[in-house]
Amino acid sequence: MPTIHVRFGSGAYDITIGAGVLERLPDVLRAVCPASHYAIIADATVAGLYGARVRKYVAAAGACDLFRFPAGEQNKSRAQWEALADSMGDAGVGRDGAVVALGGGVTGDLAGFVAATYRRGIPIVQIPTTVLAMVDSSIGGKTGLDTRHGKNLIGAFHQPAAVIADVTLLRTLPDQHVRAGLAEALKHGAVADRSHFQRVSLLRDRLLAVDADALEEIVSRSVAIKAAVVAEDERERGRRAVLNFGHTIGHALEAVSGLTLLHGEAVGVGMVAEARIGTALGVTAEGTVAELQAGLHALGLPTTRGPVSVDRLMGAMRSDKKVRGGTVRFAFLRELGEAASDEDENWTFEAPADAVRAGLHG
Ligand code: NAD
Ligand code: MG
Repeated sequence: MPTIHVRFGSGAYDITIGAGVLERLPDVLRAVCPASHYAIIADATVAGLYGARVRKYVAAAGACDLFRFPAGEQNKSRAQWEALADSMGDAGVGRDGAVVALGGGVTGDLAGFVAATYRRGIPIVQIPTTVLAMVDSSIGGKTGLDTRHGKNLIGAFHQPAAVIADVTLLRTLPDQHVRAGLAEALKHGAVADRSHFQRVSLLRDRLLAVDADALEEIVSRSVAIKAAVVAEDERERGRRAVLNFGHTIGHALEAVSGLTLLHGEAVGVGMVAEARIGTALGVTAEGTVAELQAGLHALGLPTTRGPVSVDRLMGAMRSDKKVRGGTVRFAFLRELGEAASDEDENWTFEAPADAVRAGLHG
């Protein structure tokens, strides 16, 4: 069972991946996250599926309570942050408490921000239960909440004390979420490791059947790629930006489609369009677009923007840029398996609006 050791400027921790690793939770908590009172945070769906089991494991390490919030991105909010922090206060979780985040990326980000801020910061252990959370959101220490101005606009960096990714928990995950999470695994291959990209396509049938060995292999490799990139650049000043490949357009598409597209689905479409733009600008190798499309098709993921108009996408990118107070920038590929940088080691590029439009038209 692979354990990936991650070392960042602000600390080091283990990410353990495999079938049945949840059983190690009591030992992990005692070893790296001792606390007098554990606050398990889960959305209602995941609490219903796995709350009792996780509670039993956590209770073996110390006193604990399970705190629930309603499932869904709209609950990655200040209102839920307040409710959770107040409930933890009522339950008597103190400075020597700790959080156990059990769930997908919404839970990881919300519980992570609770942990980052409660009593000026208490430790957290992440137990991701979606493919997306296992390969992406549980690693790297970004936590956050959405506001009416956009996603993740309030947040903090708060690295976990440990991450435990038990791939058997994915058996209950809806198929569409399995596929969408694998889009981020494809992205990791696209920016850093061509053979990983190809393995995801090759293992497609087993991955979609939630086969534990196949998932363990793909999640492990994706985690290793993300961890290596983040370790180099924890605060996203440089190369970490390559992980945003597909996301400039993906975020715009998510915003415009009113959350009818899952994040991973939108990122897949974004990768294709951004590769097209990169090719037109002479940064990305010819043929990359077709390779990306083939990988996404293999997983049954969309590759085109569907009914969303190019004008609306351009508008969404402009307002995102305003919110972020900068210019619209793209992470591009040099070719499949390698991210592009310019001669000054910049990992993001500006693109003229007409090139972006042409890329979106396909
Ligand atoms: P999610 O947490 O909402 O989970 C998706 C749905 O699946 C939810 O309805 C949930 O209740 C359900 N679910 C979760 N695990 C399940 C299981 N094992 N069985 C059955 N149902 C299950 O969404 P997500 O896709 O995991 O994460 C998306 C979020 O992650 C976004 O808010 C995004 O901004 C964030 N994110 C954060 C980072 C980061 O670095 N912090 C990176 C990528 C994405
Ligand atoms: Mg993403």
